[in-house]
Amino acid sequence: MMEFDVNAVFLDLDGTLYRGNSPIEDAGQFVQILRKRQIPFLFITNNSTLTPSEVADKLCRLGVKAHTSEVLTSSQGVAAFLSHHPNATIYAIGERGLKQALVEHGFQLVDEHDAGLSVDQVDFVVVGLDRSFTYDKLKRAALYIQHGAKLIGTNPDLRLPTEEGLIPGSGVICRAVGLAAPAEPVFIGKPEPHLFEQAARLLNVQGAGIWAIGDNIETDIAAAQQLGYSSALVLTGYTNEGDIASSANRPTLVAKNLTTLARLLKL
Ligand SMILES: [Mg+2]
Repeated sequence: MMEFDVNAVFLDLDGTLYRGNSPIEDAGQFVQILRKRQIPFLFITNNSTLTPSEVADKLCRLGVKAHTSEVLTSSQGVAAFLSHHPNATIYAIGERGLKQALVEHGFQLVDEHDAGLSVDQVDFVVVGLDRSFTYDKLKRAALYIQHGAKLIGTNPDLRLPTEEGLIPGSGVICRAVGLAAPAEPVFIGKPEPHLFEQAARLLNVQGAGIWAIGDNIETDIAAAQQLGYSSALVLTGYTNEGDIASSANRPTLVAKNLTTLARLLKL
């Protein structure tokens, strides 16, 4: 059996630690093992709707001990990505998680009812999942972009697996804005490298000793592969065993679940 260096773990949430509002049974124990072995890790999610403290609360409720400081969301990824533009004015289409991250980083947000602001004063249109998305928001975003604003998407996910089935993800909303403007969005979440790069800076780690663990071969594994990290695909969520052969991405390990993975990694 091969020996693996595990210097840090980037843990996906949806489909890896829980499904919707149901825990995946061995998630709490896996995180417990990481703590006991003192392996640095972060909970990393493309989901932009919740704040880090809400994500930590949800994990705790589902039996996975988690602290706010251990959570990295695509909304925080966007805020970090835009940190080179500290005085930027942003029109954000999204929910509390996105808006709070941007405000906490000192950005000026355009209010839905901002009178007096001219269309060319907006520097970025940032799009995350927004379950109150409207034609008016789409129109405003398109006009801001036509007057020079750049389009940033929290994450490219087109569909989200839920108890109801596959529902539209934030990538659909961002694509709609992109079609309307027209503009090509820059995405921050997985499979793009930005979120993992930010995580590596936060934990001060690099290279193949970093293990990205997730359920989606086209996002979690793709991002890891691009950055030269190791990766483990767990078959508890999005990707089925049958999808692996047809993907261009190759996880370092494939495991039925986190318990099996802990054994393969000798944790
Ligand atoms: Mg997932």
